Amino acid sequence: MFIFDVHAWLSHYPITYTCCIAASTVAVSEVIWFAYKYIRTFIPRKEVFDVLMFNENGYECIFQHHKNVNKSAPLKCKNVNCSQNSINRIIETIDKAQYCIDMAMFTFNSTELFEALKQAMARGVQLRIICENSRAFKAGTSIWMLINLGAMMRGPKSLSLMHHKFCIIDEELRVEEICLERGRRTKPNLCNSCIINGSANWTIRGFGGNWENIVITTNNVMIKELQAEFNRMWKAFTISLEPVEDMKMFA
Ligand SMILES: [Zn+2]
Repeated sequence: MFIFDVHAWLSHYPITYTCCIAASTVAVSEVIWFAYKYIRTFIPRKEVFDVLMFNENGYECIFQHHKNVNKSAPLKCKNVNCSQNSINRIIETIDKAQYCIDMAMFTFNSTELFEALKQAMARGVQLRIICENSRAFKAGTSIWMLINLGAMMRGPKSLSLMHHKFCIIDEELRVEEICLERGRRTKPNLCNSCIINGSANWTIRGFGGNWENIVITTNNVMIKELQAEFNRMWKAFTISLEPVEDMKMFA
């Protein structure tokens, strides 16, 4: 009876043997990776619910932070209302974005958060901004600089104000939409969808002069509701106006 000896056959063909081993390793690692992603979808995520308060105590520790400015790790001071810690927490959240950030912000001029968004865009994150048309190109705002870097912006034509201050990071359906737009057939990586929402505009005054709050959460209901409203506004609002005179001051 003829018995086909695979090992003997492969030992006569070392290149084929090596290719078979390599292909098997890749196939096994792919199976393990897909199994891991599949299993993870059944494990409930630990919900994040961080409440940041901005108030008159926020800048008691500002001199410590100024002294620490050149150190690689940001100072974790013990001031529970430390504005710098809160800003760092927002930056940390933006830094985790992998695919998309949808931001609805009345006005925006925080240098640190501008840098975080700029870095996100540099690593391929798609940024859409909804804001007041009148504010987008106003002197001192950072929005037009983000537009120049490739962010898309829309705003209402209305006497009522677009007064939201929220930001959605990597919402599931939006991520899938982006992956389809980019022509990727595979399912996207698992990502940490979350929102940053509150009363504060992302401005120097919002973080350092006013009494404000910001909540960072992975709560799915809030993420879906805010994404639905963002999508609704995005369809309803017009594409950004051309830059006007004020921006020339920063050109
Ligand atoms: Zn502090």
